[in-house]
Amino acid sequence: MTDIALNESLGHAYDQARTRLRNALADAGRTQDATELLAVSKTKPAAMIRQAWQLGQRQFGENYLQEALEKQTELADLDDIVWHFIGPLQSNKTRAVAEYFDWVHSVDRLKIAQRLSEQRPAHLAPLNICLQVNISREESKAGVLPEALEELAKDVAALPHLRLRGLMAIPAPAEGLDAQRQPLAALREALTALQNALPEAPLDTLSMGMSDDLEAAVLEGATLVRLGTAIFGARQST
Ligand SMILES: *Cc1c(COP(=O)(O)O)cnc(C)c1O
Repeated sequence: MTDIALNESLGHAYDQARTRLRNALADAGRTQDATELLAVSKTKPAAMIRQAWQLGQRQFGENYLQEALEKQTELADLDDIVWHFIGPLQSNKTRAVAEYFDWVHSVDRLKIAQRLSEQRPAHLAPLNICLQVNISREESKAGVLPEALEELAKDVAALPHLRLRGLMAIPAPAEGLDAQRQPLAALREALTALQNALPEAPLDTLSMGMSDDLEAAVLEGATLVRLGTAIFGARQST
């Protein structure tokens, strides 16, 4: 694919994704700045991230540490870029995530949060954290169960080099707006409960909504939608 073809198709998809978000916000009766767009660039080359940046995109989400670090090195010249780690996180990866990312959406255990806090370099701002919730209660899926969320949130909020910002979920796939809205509404309610339990914490983020359920997520109060396919096209299955 030539650079020009790549540029045109990405430009078109990016416009369409922005329009979709704009329309969803209008339909939900929310202000246009109520939800930000996180571009999920896993498996996509650094050149595509650079093009999205040129179109004005600043926040990017990555799932695989090694791949992300390579792209960050290639893109070190891009100003104001904000990196979000959204993939599964094991203990042996926390140091690099604490050093090279601005946000982590996939914290579901205290041990991981403690390591991220200890390993966050002192010269950087606190690392922004979303707790991942297993909102559809799927067996062997990542995320803290709703009944264990408050205790985890209290412990994470007390860690010095983290800022607990909110919640993230990947609901089980569902067909139709009403079915999609149910788990997203449950995540919104869980955030409200946490805001009441932890009035001092800067809990302002609901990271929910992907290419297939963006409209449902915006209706249920998402503040950050994570779009991959809708911006960068289908990923190669492995
Ligand atoms: C891949 C991924 C996305 C993006 O999914 P699309 O359906 O391609 O929009 C969002 N969030 C997480 C956590 C992901 O792993």
